[in-house]
Amino acid sequence: MVTTLDNALLDDILQQVRPLIGKGKVADYIPALAEVAADRLAIAVCTVDGEMFQAGDATERFSIQSISKVLSLTLALTRYQEHEIWQRVGKEPSGLPFNSLLQLEMEQGKPRNPFINPGALVVCDMLQTRLSAPKQRMLEVVRQLTGEDDLAYDSRVARSEFEHSDRNAAIAYLMKSFGNFENDVLTVLQTYFHYCALRMSCVELARSFAYLANHGRDLSGREVISPLQARQINALMMTSGMYDGAGEFAYRVGMPGKSGVGGGIVAIVPDELSIAVWSPELDASGNSLAGTAALELLSQRISRSIF
Ligand code: GLN
Repeated sequence: MVTTLDNALLDDILQQVRPLIGKGKVADYIPALAEVAADRLAIAVCTVDGEMFQAGDATERFSIQSISKVLSLTLALTRYQEHEIWQRVGKEPSGLPFNSLLQLEMEQGKPRNPFINPGALVVCDMLQTRLSAPKQRMLEVVRQLTGEDDLAYDSRVARSEFEHSDRNAAIAYLMKSFGNFENDVLTVLQTYFHYCALRMSCVELARSFAYLANHGRDLSGREVISPLQARQINALMMTSGMYDGAGEFAYRVGMPGKSGVGGGIVAIVPDELSIAVWSPELDASGNSLAGTAALELLSQRISRSIF
């Protein structure tokens, strides 16, 4: 049965997935994230015409974490020729956890894709080279996409990431040893951690990512990236946006998606919708447990999938 998309449908979906809370695990690799209330649950759906549907804690801001990897790639596409990006980072799914070092050593310091930590660190390194103030520029990007001038970094989360940065630092130094890193590692780590520490709500995320549903144009009609680039980012999200859970997510949800360890996921129905969900407890791959279930239900109830 196909239902129409409205707030009541989204409410109903959240009610159905709420029993999953308690069955996952809130990210605890940094103290600042471990403190997040596990019972938060939210969904927001934005149409390419700018209509917004929402339920639960959809206006509460949280740490977007790796969802920012899509925004940093988008920003890099506006500053670099595509071949310059793809000679430093690949387009293949990794099948490994987001912070794994294994492939990096075997593949001479070239990360598998831009949505795992090594790939995002290379992209941040590239932004560091071409932007005079990469942290400030990202804030301008998300403020423009959402129309919200008070969007900001959570400095406590950024600091906490930096204090527990051994693995990300190891990744960056390994790439540097292979010649695939241009700038000072600690400076780039600071940029990367700030991007991860951006605080946004589901409503703001759904609004921001509308450009990926709308052939590269944001809700005001401005071209953020080309239609072809939007299609290519969606393809990368489909194959690599959920780390070693990408196959399961494609099977259950059937939409390009990008998760973060803060419990957020953004998903795209090309030509139609950008969707954001949030539930802090994660599954074994580091993707939101109830969030994935909510997207799975939504895809079935409104009968949307790219397949
Ligand atoms: N800040 C996290 C890290 O670098 C982001 C990872 C994620 O959201 N999957 O480990």
